[in-house]
Amino acid sequence: MAPEIKYTKLFIDNKWVDAVSGKTFDTYNPHDGSVIATVAEGDEADINLAVAAAKRAFHRNSEWRLMDAAQRWAILDKFADLVQRDTQYLAELECYNNGMLLSSAILSLKYNVVENIRYLASLADKIQGDTIPLSGEVFAYTLKQPIGVCGLILPWNGPILLFIVKVVAALAAGCTVVVKPAEQTPLTALALAALLQEAGLPAGVVNVVNGFGVGAGTTLTHHPDVAKISFTGSLEVGKLIQQAAGANNLKRVTLELGGKSPLVIMDDADLNAAIPYAAYSIFSHQGQMCIAASRVYVQSGVYDKFVQGAVAMAKKRVIGNPTDPATEHGPQIDAEMFNKVLGYIEAGKKEGAKVLTGGKRVGNTGYYIEPTVFVDVTDDMKIAKEEIFGPVQCILKFDTLEEVIERCNNTNYGLAAGIFTSNLNTALQFSKHAEVGKVWINTYLMMGPQAPSGGWKDSSIGIENGLQAVDAFLEQKTVAINLPKKF
Ligand code: NAD
Repeated sequence: MAPEIKYTKLFIDNKWVDAVSGKTFDTYNPHDGSVIATVAEGDEADINLAVAAAKRAFHRNSEWRLMDAAQRWAILDKFADLVQRDTQYLAELECYNNGMLLSSAILSLKYNVVENIRYLASLADKIQGDTIPLSGEVFAYTLKQPIGVCGLILPWNGPILLFIVKVVAALAAGCTVVVKPAEQTPLTALALAALLQEAGLPAGVVNVVNGFGVGAGTTLTHHPDVAKISFTGSLEVGKLIQQAAGANNLKRVTLELGGKSPLVIMDDADLNAAIPYAAYSIFSHQGQMCIAASRVYVQSGVYDKFVQGAVAMAKKRVIGNPTDPATEHGPQIDAEMFNKVLGYIEAGKKEGAKVLTGGKRVGNTGYYIEPTVFVDVTDDMKIAKEEIFGPVQCILKFDTLEEVIERCNNTNYGLAAGIFTSNLNTALQFSKHAEVGKVWINTYLMMGPQAPSGGWKDSSIGIENGLQAVDAFLEQKTVAINLPKKF
């Protein structure tokens, strides 16, 4: 049964309000394309109200600014308790609005989301400066202080986790925020806002304004009272955001963007592990992951055996309704992405790559695409260069480690890479030379709040998670005090 949709309005200043314009938009279930809710559509006027509320909440005498850091941690920890309490409901919402498998959403909430909240929350009272040995009769120290009002702009592919990663880090730092969720997935952000309110956040600290990129998003990125934009989404929009951030004031910017991550399978790899991992790394969440292993480079000695295994893995994935516990492969998010992925599959065929399995739509409703395996892929093909964001595994052949490092790095992206090998030296050489933000050895997709996460080149500016997670939301100040005598 579909989950009850409790929140469809905008959340501004701890109140649920309609859009000033009165406009709304529909949101859909990717399983069958049906409308599951109609949500308030915020635009310029609503963002202005939300930023004003966040600015009031950030005033130096506000309840939030005067609150002890340990109390901020306590409220966020309570929020973690509430997310834990509502795991089943939140997972169902994620499943219905995003197409994420219900089983994956439950696991993610239980083991990933709650852990993320608790870890990031715990950083609130660990924000410390330095004492500085300035020359002369002086004592100097640094203060790290919250930046101010932050605009957090989210993509649709991991609505709950990505909300948590940005919002909790910003709040742990002491900032106030205006969140603009993706237009495809407005529902879980509202449910999380309700839990933050229940946890005891003062009014205006968190505001959620659903709406579209042009309108709500652009107003936020141009707003002179917003000090920082933290954005996760496509490279194309990331570039626009960086420009907008410098248009009216000099906003600090964090960008977490796309990828075209390589996974290397060496001749000495344990194929019993490498083949299932390669499948898991591209087909999980139907390939809708920034870190998806979308280029698989296989050394010539094991190429045929690997390809045979890869095809078998793709074929046996159970496709179906994401609410069904037996399902392993659900729908793409919407018609636009569905058509885009099918377009890439056609482009791959036209350029001479060969589909060994998949390549087609499944059924006539919803946005299902078969897990697809391409061979005979060359580096210059569109499917080897561009982010597909779908269940399309591209397999490429190579001969030497030198060659594969060169080919892996021959991209403007630099998010992640992986290697399967039994030779430690090979693994270390590869991890040293891969131009990416994270490398996995004999594994893939292993992440957690404790590990810093970012990317190189066009994949990212800034770091999320890890001990530095709050730094992205802090300014630093040096204070020097004149002393009668140096001590
Ligand atoms: P998108 O760039 O289309 O949209 C992301 C958000 O930006 C949405 O909320 C959208 O409304 C908003 N937006 C669009 N145009 C805007 C504008 N001109 N000004 C301000 N906001 C605007 O991305 P998407 O399709 O939602 O997400 C998929 C992309 O996100 C993929 O490229 C994926 O790799 C990337 N991603 C990256 C990471 C990471 O950590 N690096 C994580 C998840 C997803």
